[in-house]
Amino acid sequence: MDAKEFREFGKAAVDFVADYLENIRDHEVLPTVEPGYLLDLLPKQMPEEPEPWTEVLSDINRVIKPGITHWQSPNMHGYYPTSTSYPSIVGEMLASGFGIIGFSWICSPACTELEVVVMDWLAKFLKLPEHFQHASDGPGGGVIQGSASEAVLVAVLAAREQAVLSCKETHPELSESEVRGKLIAYSSDQSNSCIEKAGVLAAMPIKLLAADEDLILRGDTLRKAIEEDVAAGLIPVICIATLGTTGTCAYDDIESLADVCQALKVWLHVDAAYAGGGFALEECAELRRGLDRVDSLNFNLHKFMLVNFDCSAMWLRDANKVVDSFNVDRIYLKHKHEGQSQIPDFRHWQIPLGRRFRALKVWITFRTLGAEGLRNHVRKHIALAQQFESFVRNDSRFEMVAPQALGLVCFRPRGDNENTTQLLQRLMERKKIYMVKAEHAGRQFLRFAVCGMDAKPSDIEFAWTEIESQLTAHLAEKSLAEVARKPSNVSDLTQHFQMHLANGGGGTHEKSQ
Ligand code: PLP
Repeated sequence: MDAKEFREFGKAAVDFVADYLENIRDHEVLPTVEPGYLLDLLPKQMPEEPEPWTEVLSDINRVIKPGITHWQSPNMHGYYPTSTSYPSIVGEMLASGFGIIGFSWICSPACTELEVVVMDWLAKFLKLPEHFQHASDGPGGGVIQGSASEAVLVAVLAAREQAVLSCKETHPELSESEVRGKLIAYSSDQSNSCIEKAGVLAAMPIKLLAADEDLILRGDTLRKAIEEDVAAGLIPVICIATLGTTGTCAYDDIESLADVCQALKVWLHVDAAYAGGGFALEECAELRRGLDRVDSLNFNLHKFMLVNFDCSAMWLRDANKVVDSFNVDRIYLKHKHEGQSQIPDFRHWQIPLGRRFRALKVWITFRTLGAEGLRNHVRKHIALAQQFESFVRNDSRFEMVAPQALGLVCFRPRGDNENTTQLLQRLMERKKIYMVKAEHAGRQFLRFAVCGMDAKPSDIEFAWTEIESQLTAHLAEKSLAEVARKPSNVSDLTQHFQMHLANGGGGTHEKSQ
């Protein structure tokens, strides 16, 4: 493909994406394909001869689009949002155009320096403690990782190596393998699966401590666990707290956890993969309490900052602790400006050697939307979640399971778990909206996350109508089945029907505004 053809293909692709995103509501959010659909549609070998791009693009419509789950649809309410925006898409394209791999400053000075700039911009925007900025006097700074999972793993590995170093000093009688065999880490049973996985990858058990009734992990629980473990000869290394748990967006009590971690010299990491977006808002200032005492934290720009996947910000109070843990060099990686404090070699801050030029899409997004645009985006998601919450609260057939938090509402139809399961199954079969289930203390519930590039109040109304009408249908079917199970006579059935209709077809049900 030459530059002329690339221009044609590229412009057609931009039109394709703009048409797709502009008309995203036309698609059912979930695809209708069965497993293996694409394997059957495509040839078993790549084409021997080149094919025209026009044919490839039309195949994207024909075979790829039918297998897409439309994450950018405002009818997507599963998981947490994965954001994108037009400027971010352009940023991704330009980064591919440069085609660099910025593992050291010399490998593309702009890649490293732009990352330093945008990470400091973001730290200021989120009102993080100053010591997390590269521009601060201390050894702190921020880096862009691919995902929250990577950020957590980096924190866990660095904390582990620091603990091994200090333990070898304080306990010279122990061999290194004896020390490593005693290491232990902590998180809550509400934390994301990536935390437990980081423990597996780091070969260090992570104890998932039971969060309190309100799903929050507090210092008392951590202190008790650590004291028991120390008494048993173990060495506590790190606690990974969460601000915005995946299940219900609960916020661990960072201040009381920091009290314990500081007193017992345990690394404190905060996973704020989703809720970090709230740090930017004055009305969410509470969320930032205690962050001045944590060693590291992560926040996914691809969840809440309109920057597309993958883009996960991580800040370190003392980056040297990570660099010292991961610094493995070769002669071909060296350059003459190495070691200068204002130009970090970010390869030592991460797991892979190669680095994508992610800062470019961040910079383009931040400049074209501005801080106010980003704050408005977070505020809009909160307002839409509040709109949904009011629908739930005004319908007596439903109950809230946890307080609405940022763009997430956790709710369930009253009654046994079967109602939740059946309602979700109906919604999944209809494919008009997508939600996922969660469970706490034996109670299953639904998570309604505000998602999509441009969700509107009418989308929330659409989702609510879908949910409440499907509950109506489920309850009607359920009561019919109950009558059918014990039909004493025909008049029982008639009476049951009459009662059902008198109740508006679906139990006590006050429609909200
Ligand atoms: N932490 C929390 C609280 C999350 O909700 C998620 C994913 O939704 C993750 C971590 C994992 O994020 P990633 O896919 O970026 O690794």
